[in-house]
Amino acid sequence: MTSLPAPFIESTRALLGDEAAPFFRALEAPFAAALRLNPRRDGAEAASLPFTEDAVPWCPAGRYIRPGARPGLSPLHAAGAYYIQEASAMAPAAALDVRPGELALDLCAAPGGKSGQIAAALEGRGALVANEPDPARARLLAATLERLGVPNALVTNAWPQELAARFPETFDAILVDAPCSGEGMFRREPESRLEWREGSPAGCAARQAGILDQAAAMLRPGGRLVYSTCTFNRAENEDTVSAFLDRHPDFAPEDFALPGVGASESGCLRLWPHRVRGDGQFAARLRKAGSSAPAHRPRLPRVDRETQARLAALHEIAPGWAAGLEEARFLLRGDTLCALPGALPDFSGLRALRCGLHLCRLGRGYIEPDHALAMALKAKEAAQAAEFDEAQALRLLSGETAESALRGWTLLTHRGMPLGWGKASGGVMKNHIPKGLRIHINT
Ligand code: SAM
Repeated sequence: MTSLPAPFIESTRALLGDEAAPFFRALEAPFAAALRLNPRRDGAEAASLPFTEDAVPWCPAGRYIRPGARPGLSPLHAAGAYYIQEASAMAPAAALDVRPGELALDLCAAPGGKSGQIAAALEGRGALVANEPDPARARLLAATLERLGVPNALVTNAWPQELAARFPETFDAILVDAPCSGEGMFRREPESRLEWREGSPAGCAARQAGILDQAAAMLRPGGRLVYSTCTFNRAENEDTVSAFLDRHPDFAPEDFALPGVGASESGCLRLWPHRVRGDGQFAARLRKAGSSAPAHRPRLPRVDRETQARLAALHEIAPGWAAGLEEARFLLRGDTLCALPGALPDFSGLRALRCGLHLCRLGRGYIEPDHALAMALKAKEAAQAAEFDEAQALRLLSGETAESALRGWTLLTHRGMPLGWGKASGGVMKNHIPKGLRIHINT
């Protein structure tokens, strides 16, 4: 095993005192993998039982993965039944405690584990802005939220200052899961030990301060901010928080508790790998003074005649397409018709990869349902659905066609959960799962 950097050992010994020995032992022990069940998928819990064991105490939808189980290779993963996420990484979104109907921002969001968790807490109401400045990582984020069937998220690819210019005092809740020196990864990804430098914590802390200042400007008075890292040193955690509070006297720490972890001190909570079944994580909850009604006002649907006609065609493919949408507005981006959550503020001028739910592509005289719509549907919300067992589902996911006596657009499902669209004619189900999502697994 790659050895730990000497300055890290020294500073962590000073930080932990008597607890240093069990901490360093924990870093060399195997880590416990986990997943989070997707509440949008009926039957996800029962279907995942072969892979899962105990619940994660601080996240009701979290489950530890049985040793040796490979849930990432199951078609249930492609169907969005769960998201594979380290258990301690479920703590920051639990601390943010988003409620249905709120307007939330996840400022450093890729690959999307915490965004998925926030979206689950919204239960399809209100809206989530999930942002990632790195273009390739932003695409991963968009794919994660699509796979989980989230209908009410805007995925942006912007720097925090670009967002702050567009969204002053806008959000009820903001998560800053900051880029950090990643000491919490030393167990799970031992090669990360080689990337750490003695100057990493100070360099990261300076960047974190800049991101937090932009987040502060985007939070509405009375709103809450959770700042989190997966690193152990104080410079990027408690010290970053206290320097932020010095710069922003309108913010105060707010104590909270997580089951199985305990209560925060001055708004800060640590998960240590020798105390909980999970890796290292830090989360701080801060409240902005004042109060303002949530800034977002639901707007009434605006549907022009042409869109209405197109929506009638969509209705023939997926009669229940609007079931999970709250006060949707419509937006045509290129040839893609999107349903925007009513709660979403104006985002013009920002680079957006996903705008709410992408419903369909409008061609000349025809429409083609979007993969994102398939992933947001339940089987009963499609005009017709075809169920596939595990082996058949894996073949579909690798791009094969299937035999079918049906005709027309069909929701392809595995254990009732969506895999994508197929279009049946002449005894063949043509596969419309996007090529970029194909997986090849030997059964
Ligand atoms: N929250 C994510 C999740 O749960 O999947 C993990 C986020 S990771 C710890 C931090 C992210 O911040 C990275 O994807 C990184 O590209 C992004 N990032 C880097 N610099 C940033 C900046 N200046 N502002 C916002 N995000 C930044």
